[in-house]
Amino acid sequence: MNSVGRPPEVDSHGEVVQKSLVNVTIPTKLANFLKEKGINRSRLFTNVVKRMYRDELCRFCYSTNIKESMIGKYCLDCELAKPSANPYTTYKCCENCGNKYQPPYNMFANSKKIPKGCSDCVPKEEQL
Ligand SMILES: [Zn+2]
Ligand SMILES: [Zn+2]
Repeated sequence: MNSVGRPPEVDSHGEVVQKSLVNVTIPTKLANFLKEKGINRSRLFTNVVKRMYRDELCRFCYSTNIKESMIGKYCLDCELAKPSANPYTTYKCCENCGNKYQPPYNMFANSKKIPKGCSDCVPKEEQL
């Protein structure tokens, strides 16, 4: 039991994230650079992988149960665990105007003229 140091990382389900040690081989100059900068390699590696695979891997709970909706990709496990939280990992762009969906600022919206728009391109008074 580890009682020293920071509290363990907890995922969106409230469960402790299990960790594994992985060895990587990188150029020595790169390793020295990271050391000089005081960069935490474990955190760096985790963040890089989460960003690279946003479409396939949930950045909140590391699940690969990613589903697609009209506005983007979301983690089904996170949605089921906490329906009030935002489970989206990536957002698409509006088919009509090309602006990115960014709830709560830019949401999906439709009207009689524009079936798949967003709050940027469908005037509020025309939204269905
Ligand atoms: Zn998740
Ligand atoms: Zn739009």
